[in-house]
Amino acid sequence: MNETGLCELAVVGLGVMGGNLARNFASRGLRVAGYQRTVEHAHALAAAHPEARLRIADSLEALVKMLERPRRLVLMVNAGPAVDSVLDQLDPLLEDGDIVVDGGNSLYTDTDRRVARAESRPWRFVGMGVSGGSEGALLGPSIMPGGDRYAWERLRPPLEAIAARSPSGVCVTYCGRGSAGHFVKMVHNGIEYGDMQLIAEVTALMREGMGWPWGQVADTFAEWNRGELESYLIEITADILRAPDPQNPGALLVDAILDRAGQKGTGKWTVVAAAEHGVPIPTIAAAVDARLLSAAKELRTRAEAALRPARGVIQGVSPDDLRDALYASKIASYTQGFALLQAASEARDYGANLAEIARIWTGGCIIRAVFLERIRAAFAQAPRPSGPDGPELLVLAPDFAADVARRLPGWRRVVAAAAAAGHPVPGLSASLAWFDTLTQARGSASLIQAQRDYFGSHTYERVDAPGVFVHTEWPKSSQ
Ligand code: NDP
Repeated sequence: MNETGLCELAVVGLGVMGGNLARNFASRGLRVAGYQRTVEHAHALAAAHPEARLRIADSLEALVKMLERPRRLVLMVNAGPAVDSVLDQLDPLLEDGDIVVDGGNSLYTDTDRRVARAESRPWRFVGMGVSGGSEGALLGPSIMPGGDRYAWERLRPPLEAIAARSPSGVCVTYCGRGSAGHFVKMVHNGIEYGDMQLIAEVTALMREGMGWPWGQVADTFAEWNRGELESYLIEITADILRAPDPQNPGALLVDAILDRAGQKGTGKWTVVAAAEHGVPIPTIAAAVDARLLSAAKELRTRAEAALRPARGVIQGVSPDDLRDALYASKIASYTQGFALLQAASEARDYGANLAEIARIWTGGCIIRAVFLERIRAAFAQAPRPSGPDGPELLVLAPDFAADVARRLPGWRRVVAAAAAAGHPVPGLSASLAWFDTLTQARGSASLIQAQRDYFGSHTYERVDAPGVFVHTEWPKSSQ
């Protein structure tokens, strides 16, 4: 507390994330007040971590009185109705200039609604993504605030104090107006789904398709983690593949884990948002679909027994081909994710800076990777004549274009060999199909336009008169 006996900031909701964020703020010398609906849990947290000197309030009324003004309150409660419930309770207690931050994984359209609500109230609202899991919350997360600019300036010192640091700087930036913070966090999670799926597919090819022992798979990921693929997810994959099964001496834990992936919805939200903004993100969509199919374990078991597709050994693929396929697919996936951010920023007036967003993902968050520094550099290039700075699409940046060209032969070999041998690679193949479609100036959609006009008089444009929509009375063989 300061000389007035007041705290500088409060955390509401002291669960896995809120408790650790509160301790992180305290460890940076901030005077932190805390409140949790289940008050005993809040007191237990404070007692377990006396060094944090958390001041626990037994009600929101008491919490508000503990804070210096204008107040700063960070909500870390479950996304959805819990956020509205806490806002309803805080609303009559707050005064001019007070700041409420929603740090949970809220759906960006909910944040839009809350931003609009706050506009008619004296308090200010910030929707903020936090990534890095519980450990990140305690030791340094990547933080993605958006919304009220005045509020950001007031939040900046404490957020910069607790955020992760990478060679590219402190991993927090103002992401843009309105719901930008939660939109950016959602796309972060969508990209995370893509990365995890691609890594899982390559692992399965090594193991099931090429018959490598787990040790060789783990060693290969550890080696890749010393090169261009260096990232948190590659690093933990090597660790995971070496972990022993505590219940089965001599066995590995990975073999004991059921192949049914969970999801909390942020990947699905990303796919829905991409469709609504007219941006194709097939790598991320394939990752969401793959999790859905993985969850249908019993159905897959019955289908395998009924259909018995031949599944053979992968031929003609080298470890370097696998690395190239993974890296090129990653470039495809990040190109899609950043294209979505750019489209949303324009459509929703976020004013997002893509270079800054890449920069704050270089540390603290689940997708942190050296690769993101290259993305930052690409988007920080000289301004384009119109539109945001940097390349029109990430893959068109000279650096990345050259990278993909170099990896294309290996990428094709992996996808073709996997398909030939019956091994599913939905992420790798969706990424390659996206690349091949993107780079085909004349595609197959002429026929789709003809069909639409045939059955629905939807009209089409001729190649020699684009912009002029015409209809044809198509000759019908059945008449
Ligand atoms: P926990 O379940 O650990 O904590 C949830 C907190 O919300 C508890 O303090 C709980 O209080 C409170 N709460 C729930 N419902 C209400 C309500 N109706 N009114 C008041 N308080 C309520 O969740 P996490 O800490 O993991 O997650 C919090 C937020 O952070 C979520 O939005 C989550 O998506 C997001 N997040 C989580 C990450 C993670 O790795 N866990 C990573 C990044 C973001 P009580 O105990 O009284 O129920």
